[in-house]
Amino acid sequence: MLLQQQRQKVIDIALKAQNEKLMPLTMGNFSIRDIETGYICITPSGMEYTLLKPEDIVVVDLEGNIVEGSRKPSIETQLHCRTYKKRPDVMGICHTHSTFATAWACCGKEIPAIVAELAAMIGGPVQCSPYAPMGTVELADIVSDSIGARNAVLMENHGMLSVGESIDKAFANAVIVEEAAKVTLYATQIGGMKTISAQECDYLRRETQENYGQK
Ligand code: 13P
Ligand code: ZN
Repeated sequence: MLLQQQRQKVIDIALKAQNEKLMPLTMGNFSIRDIETGYICITPSGMEYTLLKPEDIVVVDLEGNIVEGSRKPSIETQLHCRTYKKRPDVMGICHTHSTFATAWACCGKEIPAIVAELAAMIGGPVQCSPYAPMGTVELADIVSDSIGARNAVLMENHGMLSVGESIDKAFANAVIVEEAAKVTLYATQIGGMKTISAQECDYLRRETQENYGQK
């Protein structure tokens, strides 16, 4: 089997996302880009994550053509492929319909940078890409353009997409965005929200990249 380890890792992340309650049912998809072959390992469409085996993960090329696997790949395969195409630095992608991030996305509003770890991990506000129907090439183009050089973007009336230099980082970004979406909603209710300046966001991002965690 091609890329068995990477396929297992995609399953592990889907299960972690489920444990974190990052989506209802199977309203999400997860992928890894393999550094050697350039192939993408992506979750199958609409399959219960707890039942997934490595052979259920579909291996596709950068155009979305199936290389190996008998399952139908995620309907958002083009969303993943087109994001990888535009972002050579990205090696893992998570798409979820996490509750609080989706609430902001349903209002077409960006999540402002008020939570320190959002500034540290994402580098600023999480913008919202314009609406397009799920599973379409139109959506794939709009969202992969909207994310730009950032690590996360909201998808209007739909959910969020996060990326990273590994799928672990993409997953961490998905968790941070969801938490920030929740805290920011509470903050709007309290009133008097204090935004972190762009300059301070840059500082927090740089510091985190250079000094946070174990080397
Ligand atoms: P898949 O189950 O096909 O990955 O679709 C879920 C989803 O999030 C659609 O936008
Ligand atoms: Zn979706």
